[in-house]
Amino acid sequence: QADLALFQAKAAGRNTLAFFDPEMQVRLQARARLEADLRQALPKGELRLYYQPQVDERGVVIGVEALVRWQHPVRGQVSPGEFIPLAEENRLIVAIGHWVLETACRQLAAWAADPARSALSLSVNVSPRQFREPDFVDRVLETLEATGAPASRLKLEVTESLLLEARDEARSRMLELRARGVGFALDDFGTGYSSLAYLKRLPLDQLKIDQSFVRDLLEDEASEAIVASTIALAQSLKLEVVAEGVETEAQRAWLLAHGCRAFQGYLFGRPVAVEALELDA
Ligand code: C2E
Ligand code: MG
Ligand code: MG
Ligand code: MG
Repeated sequence: QADLALFQAKAAGRNTLAFFDPEMQVRLQARARLEADLRQALPKGELRLYYQPQVDERGVVIGVEALVRWQHPVRGQVSPGEFIPLAEENRLIVAIGHWVLETACRQLAAWAADPARSALSLSVNVSPRQFREPDFVDRVLETLEATGAPASRLKLEVTESLLLEARDEARSRMLELRARGVGFALDDFGTGYSSLAYLKRLPLDQLKIDQSFVRDLLEDEASEAIVASTIALAQSLKLEVVAEGVETEAQRAWLLAHGCRAFQGYLFGRPVAVEALELDA
């Protein structure tokens, strides 16, 4: 009830029209309920980590992205696109982020110990809120040490919004982690508001072309121009580039012809539980 009141107050503050229609009331209640459930998700063990392969031009799996899933007891699987933004607002993301990092690093350590898997890199999404926690760097280093995962195989995916909010702070944290071998990917590239100058200042290893551009390839000239320039930009800055959301062979061929050498998308594999992950070509 307190949460609901808070949401209402927030909504009222933002809107010039400060009345609530019944539909909005229902939406707010649903949201408050989801938030209450999310608080319980971690202690109740309802979160799972899924893994999606990233492949090179030959189709060999070179890396894996960890993607969180919430198995809600009543609603079934809730998409991270829905609950991560909610978790961001109420700081639950910090606890969720720790759990994700630890679970991912345990998996990474297991792969690193297997000669057939030891070259795999593992990408983990980090939300801006989590990244801004004062002990973020220590947490990552402690988790690497506790799990025995090799830092050089861990890649943290950050978004442009993070870089906008706290540039110098973000840069020094990234440098600190990078000095220990941790890599950084800029996720959803082109969808945020960042200036290209960040690409020069920040210790990035990889750019991920957002799936919205990949989806529209071969249909939309603007998307083609954006993707082609992003690939060229990454190449001249000596950054790896990964195309996200590759669903068709035609998209893959276009990307390959334009110099992209790493791909992620349903064409190669959906995010799945680790038992279902196919790592052999
Ligand atoms: P993202 O990091 O950009 O992840 C890629 C999203 O694209 C994933 O959605 C993935 O399932 C989806 N995807 C992959 N290939 C394809 C494809 O070929 N077609 C289409 N249509 N979609 C594809 P998902 O798993 O629903 O995650 C959504 C977003 O939620 C992620 O976007 C990321 O921003 C966030 N997220 C997921 N897991 C975590 C996490 O552990 N921590 C944080 N902070 N955020 C996470
Ligand atoms: Mg990502
Ligand atoms: Mg992305
Ligand atoms: Mg995204």
